[in-house]
Amino acid sequence: FQNIEVAVPVPLFKTFIYKVNLSVFPNICQGQRVLVPFGRRKLTGYVLAVDYKSKYDPYKIKQIYDIIDDIPVFPASMIEFYQWIAKYYFYPIGEVIKSALPAGINLYDVFVVYSTSSGQDALLNNKISDIEKKILTLISNSSLSLKSVKKKAGINFSMVLIRSMEEKGFLLLKRELKTVNIKPKKIKYIHFLSDVPDDGKKSKSKEILDMVKSAGAVSLKELRSRFPSASKLIKPMEKKGQILVCEKEFFQNPLGEPIIPDTPPKLTDEQTSVVTTINDSFKNGYSAYLLCGVTGSGKTEVYMDIAAKTAAKGLSTLILVPEIALLSQIISRFRSRFGDNVAVIHSNLTNVQKYDQWLKIIKKEVCIVIGARSVIFAPVDNLGLIIVDEEHDMSYKQNSSLHYNAKDMAVVRAKQNNCTVVLGSATPSVHSFYNCSIKKFTPLYLKKRINNRSLSEVCIVDLKTNKGVSKRAEFITRPLYEGIQKALNRGEQVLLFLNRRGFANYLLCGNCGEVQKCKRCDISLTFHKMDRTFKCHYCDYWLPADSICTKCGSSNIKVLGSGTQKLEQIVSELFPNAKVARLDRDSTRKKGSLVSVLKKIKNREVDIIIGTQIIAKGHDFPNITLVGIICADLSLNFPDFRAGEKTFQLLAQVAGRAGRGEQKGKVILQTYNNDHFCIQAAEKQDFIKFYDTEILFRKALNYPPFSKLVQIKFSGKDLKQTENHVKQTGGICRKLINMHTEFKKNIEQLGPVKSPIFKIADNYRWQLLLKAKDISVLYKFLHQFLFVEYLPIKTPKVKSVLDVDPFFMM
Ligand code: ADP
Ligand code: ZN
Ligand code: ZN
Repeated sequence: FQNIEVAVPVPLFKTFIYKVNLSVFPNICQGQRVLVPFGRRKLTGYVLAVDYKSKYDPYKIKQIYDIIDDIPVFPASMIEFYQWIAKYYFYPIGEVIKSALPAGINLYDVFVVYSTSSGQDALLNNKISDIEKKILTLISNSSLSLKSVKKKAGINFSMVLIRSMEEKGFLLLKRELKTVNIKPKKIKYIHFLSDVPDDGKKSKSKEILDMVKSAGAVSLKELRSRFPSASKLIKPMEKKGQILVCEKEFFQNPLGEPIIPDTPPKLTDEQTSVVTTINDSFKNGYSAYLLCGVTGSGKTEVYMDIAAKTAAKGLSTLILVPEIALLSQIISRFRSRFGDNVAVIHSNLTNVQKYDQWLKIIKKEVCIVIGARSVIFAPVDNLGLIIVDEEHDMSYKQNSSLHYNAKDMAVVRAKQNNCTVVLGSATPSVHSFYNCSIKKFTPLYLKKRINNRSLSEVCIVDLKTNKGVSKRAEFITRPLYEGIQKALNRGEQVLLFLNRRGFANYLLCGNCGEVQKCKRCDISLTFHKMDRTFKCHYCDYWLPADSICTKCGSSNIKVLGSGTQKLEQIVSELFPNAKVARLDRDSTRKKGSLVSVLKKIKNREVDIIIGTQIIAKGHDFPNITLVGIICADLSLNFPDFRAGEKTFQLLAQVAGRAGRGEQKGKVILQTYNNDHFCIQAAEKQDFIKFYDTEILFRKALNYPPFSKLVQIKFSGKDLKQTENHVKQTGGICRKLINMHTEFKKNIEQLGPVKSPIFKIADNYRWQLLLKAKDISVLYKFLHQFLFVEYLPIKTPKVKSVLDVDPFFMM
């Protein structure tokens, strides 16, 4: 027997010891899943350590039931990473690992039993027990799933028996995929091998051979388009050794077009210098870079170059991209360069696909792994490089269950693996830039756009003095109107950006002035023309469009403000000859509709695109020469200390959409706050200018990066009960802080207060914020508070969630 340490996914902050019978399970190792007894339940646990020295009484240690995996589902090198996350985010390690593993992992749930020749011998020699005899007889003709063996045998034998029979060589036990396996789409390629002697005659086969020879390799599909009988003709040619037919996985870009292999361009001087700096530090172990490169400066080319250099060393690269919309672009480009050496992990894959990609990584079949946030958990063992693209993006932070920030995790994982991490952005986060100033990160710059394309010119239009061209079109000012008209006249495309948040169309009662809100969420309802309803954007609450005022009963409900739908209508009226398309959450909810709109934009089938955040980043449309920002101020007034940072990033990103092609781009930025420093910096597209002012605010108010924040969120269905619980908790917290001078000096308690969105789906919400100068003191405090003081009053009636480094404080 041997003891092993197992993490079990239960809400407890410890690991558990089990023992393993080595004669049954000789190959137990770290990273495997095991089935263990837990109280009266059977649970899946994860092996963290084998041959574990324990001071417990060996007779009291329970035995595992079974090992689930033949090969580990995560490499041993990741255990330290899981442990770090568990500690940093106050999250049970078993739950950390559970959320890190792909959802499809439980699909391999079927055990199949195969007979062997020594099993059949044993059956004839009669030297086995009755149960063994029964099992071997059952499987002697064909393999059976373990379940049907049990059923047919009519007895419930233990796993230990099967494993011991396997050990003796009587049978084979394999895990097989329950669902149908997915086969990646493959296409046939014809490669040239050798010429035929020239006999002066002409033939189709010779023409084919000539075509293949001059191209090196041709797909069968292409051949068939010229020689309809190609499939038949190539068979004898293959036999004669003239050609080689092989299959390759077929990749498509998001628009469904095939991905064509490319060759790397010659890097510019700026790119070369960045690549050289990064490459020189590879041998020094851990190093962290912040790559500040304006949009279109060739960052992605830099990523591909250093990934290739990493692969040449036999090491793997992990690439994080903030969201799916951007992923498909970057995946296409990496597949063009690296072919099947790329694995991808993101939420649009089916569970089977996710597991398939996971296995590819475990088996080291790829050297590049690309994905959104959760790819930080990819089971890459020989990590050499981590790239975080658009590092400022808020979607790296997960806002449910395990509240991790994938960007921060990337730095931690790089440090643990002694490798390089590159964070790239055109608008770096304030925190990362600050890390450069204290030498935690090394800054690298790409200041020029490729081909010396100039940045777009930004013109500010003051909404206080510039009225709309008509009463209905109150947000289409004269300068914007003329800008659109000019671009259309030149046959170019226009992007109109509307920050929907805060711009929602309020429903106001014309009789009493009441704003119509969701009964459950306390959020203003918005009008949806398509199905003629008023909808809540936080829950599924809705009212029919002919509803009467909830306060006075009047039917005089007015729709104020403007959403993308309304803007689309107004723009269509103002420019009747232009084709207008809308890109927002509603218009792209249907699968494939985003792709079809993007296709239309690319093929210039639309002239004016109206979009929300979805359109802000990434997409590369060279014919868009004018970007109109309808109202820049809206996100400035958000109740969040990062409102300025978010606004600047958003404006700079949207501005980056203009002028990606040959034509110089123009941005018309409409605002009520034309002298605000965020707007001013956005006008110049000058991150440093923004940073220099913003960092002073952060310092003066002691916000991150000058302090550490932890938020505790409370929610409960019963208003009074939740409020009492929250007040009591706040009191305990304050008392603990005041009791120790160390806490008192370092930790500031804000709240508890009602959350800005007080009610979501019938739950009342409060929040408590802790702000600390010294992280170690904060952690000391949290341990004392969470595991000692708070435990006695904890109740299942009120949910409390801890968020370390919170991003969304609504
Ligand atoms: P970013 O990621 O900074 O927006 P990209 O890497 O997408 O920039 O580069 C912008 C465009 O310039 C792309 O079309 C890319 O193919 C091209 N490009 C990048 N580097 C080079 C280079 N060294 N030579 C020629 N074209 C380049
Ligand atoms: Zn009313
Ligand atoms: Zn609601």
